[in-house]
Amino acid sequence: MLGEVGRAADGPTLIVIGGLHGNEPAGVEGLQQIFDRLRDDACNLPGRLVGLTGNRAALEVRQRFIDKDLNRVWLREHLQLVRSGMALDTAEDHEAAELDTVFRRVLAEAQGITFVLDVHTTSGPGPAFSVLHDTLPNRRFARAMSLPIALGLEEELNGTLTDYFTELGALTLSVEAGQHDDPHSVDRTAAAIWIAMDVAGLMPECYEADLEAARSLLELEGRGLPEAVEVRYRHPIPFGVHFDMDPGFESFQRVTAGEPVGSEEGRSVGSPMTGLMLMPLYQEQGEEGFFITSPVRSLWLDVSTALRRLGIERWLSALPGVRQMPQEPGTYLVNRRAARFVARQIFHLLGYRRRDYSATHLVMEKRPEPEINGHRA
Ligand SMILES: [Zn+2]
Repeated sequence: MLGEVGRAADGPTLIVIGGLHGNEPAGVEGLQQIFDRLRDDACNLPGRLVGLTGNRAALEVRQRFIDKDLNRVWLREHLQLVRSGMALDTAEDHEAAELDTVFRRVLAEAQGITFVLDVHTTSGPGPAFSVLHDTLPNRRFARAMSLPIALGLEEELNGTLTDYFTELGALTLSVEAGQHDDPHSVDRTAAAIWIAMDVAGLMPECYEADLEAARSLLELEGRGLPEAVEVRYRHPIPFGVHFDMDPGFESFQRVTAGEPVGSEEGRSVGSPMTGLMLMPLYQEQGEEGFFITSPVRSLWLDVSTALRRLGIERWLSALPGVRQMPQEPGTYLVNRRAARFVARQIFHLLGYRRRDYSATHLVMEKRPEPEINGHRA
């Protein structure tokens, strides 16, 4: 544990994790900055703030990971093996076992709602953004940051830490605070933590000036960018294949269909569609070369919030090619030919994610909506 302030009995709990990837120390440094500030004076927090260092072994050698990505191991079955000591073959399994023990203790001690902020940075340049695990309470969390929100990224990645916490009923958000070694990424991390403390209800009045400064910093960062983007394409890097991103790309930069963006084993790789580049890979380790996104209008976000509140999902089965899975409430089988892309977008808007897919079908599953004070938020 990197630090801890306040008591769980006094209110909500906020867990902040930095450095889940070892070449992303800004998250850890930003957390340190907050703990230093909180130690300076005797201003009590109305709840508990817990700060954790992610992949300590990898941070020491400034590598994304030692054996495998610590942000892909949080799968239910795998964790059971880790907890029973049957899967401790890698450095990251040991890290996960330690973190899991702390997480479960903090969650068990929490009295109110638990909020989780997971801070990352990117290998390529570009503005900071939020990565949303799309439930309505999480949306409020994300919107408070005033950064562009990336939707649908969590659907492309399995076993992330926010997946784990969402399943446990916490409110979660990931923030990509800028480029790995940019000193401003540390400031943006600290700003995101102040805002997360405010959203969580952990902000005593005496830090009002810090909060205001944090809000201005992130508002400036998000200015002129779409409020949200949806991931339309992920470029996977097969195991053993070497991918080289062409120089000069950054997140939220516009690219056109067919435009060369990198190379793989001597072959040129083009963008499969026109859209906005996200997270071009400029480091050795990583399973995705880049993502292509398209902007989502703010109005669309508001509409989908309203639709979810109205319980419009009762009518999903009426869509062509969509069938509810027998004995699995909240799960739908979608015929891709009949329903096409539109159906998937409608499911996304209503808070569903793809659980499984084949050439002909998709299985869409409802994301768990965290409970707040005994009722659905
Ligand atoms: Zn990361």
